Amino acid sequence: MKIAVIGNGIVGATFVNEMLERHPNSDIVQFDGLKGTATIASAGIIAPWLSKRRNQKWYNLARQGAEFMQEMAQKYQMPKDVYLQSGVIYTRDSDDKLQSLLELAQQRIQNAPQMGDFSEVTSSQIKKLFPFIQSTSNGVFVRGGARIDGQRFIHFLNLRNQEKVQVVQAPAKITIEGQQAFVNGSNFDLVIVAAGAWLAQTLAPLGIQAQVRPQKGQLIEINLPDNQFIDHNAPVLMPEGERDFIPTNDGTLLIGATHENDQGFDLTVSAEIVKDLLASGQRIIPGLSEKAIKHVRVGTRAYTEDFAPFFGRLPQHSQILVASGLGSSGLTTGPIIGKLLVDLIDNPLLDVSHLTKPISTYVN
Ligand SMILES: Cc1cc2nc3c(=O)[nH]c(=O)nc-3n(C[C@H](O)[C@H](O)[C@H](O)COP(=O)(O)OP(=O)(O)OC[C@H]3O[C@@H](n4cnc5c(N)ncnc54)[C@H](O)[C@@H]3O)c2cc1C
Repeated sequence: MKIAVIGNGIVGATFVNEMLERHPNSDIVQFDGLKGTATIASAGIIAPWLSKRRNQKWYNLARQGAEFMQEMAQKYQMPKDVYLQSGVIYTRDSDDKLQSLLELAQQRIQNAPQMGDFSEVTSSQIKKLFPFIQSTSNGVFVRGGARIDGQRFIHFLNLRNQEKVQVVQAPAKITIEGQQAFVNGSNFDLVIVAAGAWLAQTLAPLGIQAQVRPQKGQLIEINLPDNQFIDHNAPVLMPEGERDFIPTNDGTLLIGATHENDQGFDLTVSAEIVKDLLASGQRIIPGLSEKAIKHVRVGTRAYTEDFAPFFGRLPQHSQILVASGLGSSGLTTGPIIGKLLVDLIDNPLLDVSHLTKPISTYVN
């Protein structure tokens, strides 16, 4: 089967990997090449279980996504700088809030054993893990939480499959003639549009409207002050009311990220936002100065009106499958969506209604 895959973010890369696992003789051409790929800019937190979101379909998908990511990491023995089950700490500034978070954790673990063990941690225990911070409130430590490096994750899968995939570093244009789908003039049996925030513009030439909008995300990567260092196995720290703090395997710390709905596809670093991210860092880490900023990451997420991801076959064109709208938890849901697209190719009647609304909700 000849397949075009548009996009090499976490969805496109995982789809290709899963397709080749199950159908090693697939003839795949992968198109990529736009700037702002969300997966490359991302922070890397995989911990959906204590989310307050009420969308049950999203939660089902994210819970299965975190589990699938763990399975992939084990199966392919991903190195720690790609995927690390580091755990995640959430702090709360009152005992009541802490108790309700612990209750939620107790409820959620019933159907999510991959959440691992969880327990209350005191501010001094947190300080032992992060000696460079000033004291925080007490928190909950969820040990099954993980962090991934989105760019390295894609690179890992790309390397695994490089012999079997033709990569075209150019924007892809889809055309339809009769019952046949073409990408940049070549005919394909199937077209997978894993185009993230660019789904609407990729489908527009077909007269199809996708209800997906771009959301700018920025985060800063900092070196710790005074030659302090961070343990490579340190968990993610999510202090209440502050930005998230994500240790990297390079000994740096990511602080972020923003959710900017009014900036379109703009990728410029905003001085005001950097100041705001640094200020959050300074409230947690004494002595942190602007000089500590090593790099600013900027990327474009896709989001939908109900902030839910979607995926499936286009009703108008059965040879085209799409996925988008992954929003701020797309590292968590991306790999399972890549896998589910292969499930839908193998079984077009597969029921995914517990995971996503009908595709016509978002694409018409
Ligand atoms: C700053 C930031 C922090 C984040 N932190 C987290 C986090 O901690 N945890 C979490 O779970 N999620 C996080 N996310 C969200 C997550 O990164 C995204 O939801 C997810 O990576 C989206 O994956 P995707 O494959 O759908 O899209 P992308 O990764 O954006 O990939 C889309 C790809 O399609 C290509 N493309 C598009 N159109 C075309 C075309 N016409 N022709 C050729 N190529 C095309 C692009 O070049 C790109 O490679 C974060 C995102 C950002 C920006």
